[in-house]
Amino acid sequence: MKFELLKIDPATGARRGRLHTPHGTVETPVFMPCGTQGTVKALSPQELEGEGVELILCNTYHLYLRPGHELIAELGGLHRFMSWPHPILTDSGGYQVYSLAELRRISEEGVSFQSHLDGSKHFLSPEKVIEIQQALGSDIIMALDECAPYPAAYEYVKTSIELTLRWARRCREAHTSRNPALFGIVQGGVFPDLRERSAEETVRIGFEGYALGGLSVGESKTQTYEVIASTAPMLPLEKPRYLMGLGPPEDLLEAVALGIDMFDCVMPTRHGRTGSLFTSQGRLNIKAARYAKEEGPVDPECDCYTCRHFSRAYLRHLFITGELLGLQLNTLHNLHFYQNLMQQVRRAIEAETFREFKAGFLAKLMQEREDNQSWVEVDKGGQEGRRPRSGKVRMKNKGSTKEVKGFND
Ligand SMILES: [Zn+2]
Repeated sequence: MKFELLKIDPATGARRGRLHTPHGTVETPVFMPCGTQGTVKALSPQELEGEGVELILCNTYHLYLRPGHELIAELGGLHRFMSWPHPILTDSGGYQVYSLAELRRISEEGVSFQSHLDGSKHFLSPEKVIEIQQALGSDIIMALDECAPYPAAYEYVKTSIELTLRWARRCREAHTSRNPALFGIVQGGVFPDLRERSAEETVRIGFEGYALGGLSVGESKTQTYEVIASTAPMLPLEKPRYLMGLGPPEDLLEAVALGIDMFDCVMPTRHGRTGSLFTSQGRLNIKAARYAKEEGPVDPECDCYTCRHFSRAYLRHLFITGELLGLQLNTLHNLHFYQNLMQQVRRAIEAETFREFKAGFLAKLMQEREDNQSWVEVDKGGQEGRRPRSGKVRMKNKGSTKEVKGFND
């Protein structure tokens, strides 16, 4: 993989770049839809292509458990298995182990856990997650880290980043090739000195890209921005920067302005399936009775397939009756909103008008947003799976994961 840094916006520091991977080129800043189980829920690869999606995220934890990385490798790898010939990024699986799995126990060697599906016992080490991701055939793979819960005590996070660094070294040793590209993950909670230590040492190990982890897990927006603002400048200019799990549109704009290139979040797809639709005026809840007779589209400014063909009244009807088409059309619209937003972001950086674009977007949102709620207030949890629980590492899960099974992106 190669990253081309095309431009840095002089006014904000926003970056315009291009990722070259074995399965194609990705224009950055980019938003990756989540294809948790090897599918972006409710959409076909053809629809993703139609929306201009160039890179998707798939979850190692889920694919490792079902159908298994060895089976996927035997069937020709993940691209072929899911008929997605374009770039794929896989996470390490760590985040899901901390948020979904039962009876997890972290040791120097790695993390042991029981599957949230059937209670079967598993062990993931840094070497193992590299092996799994190599077998899947991803274009970008992630190092195993410990995502500390929020809130967590300083001493806990301090110990945790050292473990993450030792695991990062082992991942690097287990994967010396540049294809797939291996990204290191900077942790450190909301503590500036720990973020600094984590960033410096992760960069010293040397990766093809760097991710900021442990954000969007319950901390305040101001804290999120502060961590990004202080950490991003410690990362090498010429390497891509990926902020894991951040999703609210206004947050994406802030993070782009702070020099982030890549994002993923379950927000557009999950919200689509719950009838929560992103529009140029804010969020719209299609379930609301007031849309029962509305003939207009979800968003008059949107030119997606859903908005060009269907009324709010019809989409509400589909949702109320639980029709599958409703999930598909809602997801398509939300994804289009994100794709369109990122395209506008890239154009604005090229034209050196990003600061104005961002100010205009946020002003419109503040002025007209529905229900007086910003997107971030509606749903803070951005990363796949639930946020890690606070407390001790060794803990018994009481088994309340049913609500997220199969509905977690
Ligand atoms: Zn639309």
